Amino acid sequence: MKIAVINSGSSSVKFKLFDMPSANVIRDEFVEHIGEPNSPIQNHYEAIKSLHVNFADIDAVGHRVVHGGEKFRNSVLIDDEVMEAIKDLIPLAPLHNPANLEGIKVVCQKAANIPQIAVFDTAFHTTLSKEAFVYALPYEMYEKNKIRRYGFHGTSHAYLLQEAATLLKKKVQETNIITLHLGNGASACAIKNGKSCDTSMGFTPLEGLVMGTRCGDIDPAIVLFMQNELDLSADEVDALLNKKSGLLGLCGENDVRNIERRKDDKAKLALDIMVRRIQKYIGAYMIVLEDVDAVVFSGGIGENSLYVRERVMNNKILKNIKSLVIKTDEELQIAHECLGVLKE
Ligand code: ADP
Repeated sequence: MKIAVINSGSSSVKFKLFDMPSANVIRDEFVEHIGEPNSPIQNHYEAIKSLHVNFADIDAVGHRVVHGGEKFRNSVLIDDEVMEAIKDLIPLAPLHNPANLEGIKVVCQKAANIPQIAVFDTAFHTTLSKEAFVYALPYEMYEKNKIRRYGFHGTSHAYLLQEAATLLKKKVQETNIITLHLGNGASACAIKNGKSCDTSMGFTPLEGLVMGTRCGDIDPAIVLFMQNELDLSADEVDALLNKKSGLLGLCGENDVRNIERRKDDKAKLALDIMVRRIQKYIGAYMIVLEDVDAVVFSGGIGENSLYVRERVMNNKILKNIKSLVIKTDEELQIAHECLGVLKE
């Protein structure tokens, strides 16, 4: 069976075509700079049209959809109602859900009869308990405004769980691990008995670990100070926290390969702050989980940086905990999810 996976970002489309269940990759394409000035590709329709693929030959298409809110606890077959619900969730993911929806619509236009499946980044974390997902704000803000922790990178954490359980020779439902997806975006997840029970990203992907360009956890009063005392607009604060902070803000760049090679104080401090934040989350999640079979490193940094892995695990409390390095594969996980939905 041929399953195509489309991951539409705000300005890029990642495409993989799998033969399933063998998981062989038949095609792998990446279109970027969508909609940027001077780019030949001005929208997602053109991006998907530019792919070297004949949708008539494909059995199903899986789409990564960033926000499934509280509604989507699992992957689902897409119909008009699902598309409407993804649209309703746009206020929670204003950059991503419209791009994801665009990808779905383009495939509808090109091949109306192919089953399309939505795989949500948030779905894996819908097992969080209220004590893990409700913020200590007035409770109505959760009830009325749906302000709560959702968590992201769920497809990656779910894939890492499956792979880790195999490596640990444990049943998934008996596996207790801390997964660290350390890419340009980064998140940690505490997985108890095969279910996400806490995660570092929150209402948006801004919370938690120090990332390439995002600050992660900060005192929320800093936002008020920036607006009231530094006269920054809401949009300026948004751009500052999401695009100009993290490693980039601390040392001027966000590629850990380069930062590791540098000898200056700012580069060293950036890595120290990133490592310390990761360790703090591992510590917190050890308390939440009580039993930890392993800490799993993944994402571009987790998979490739021995330096970061050693720095994180070089700690009296962590030295007796097993660590695993697993290359994540969100697209393959989406293809597996599609198979699951088609079998239902
Ligand atoms: P994204 O979140 O964009 O998918 P990736 O998971 O590809 O990101 O991770 C990208 C990051 O991985 C880069 O910013 C870089 O810092 C880091 N990285 C990649 N290779 C290495 C390496 N050999 N050593 C250290 N860091 C690396």
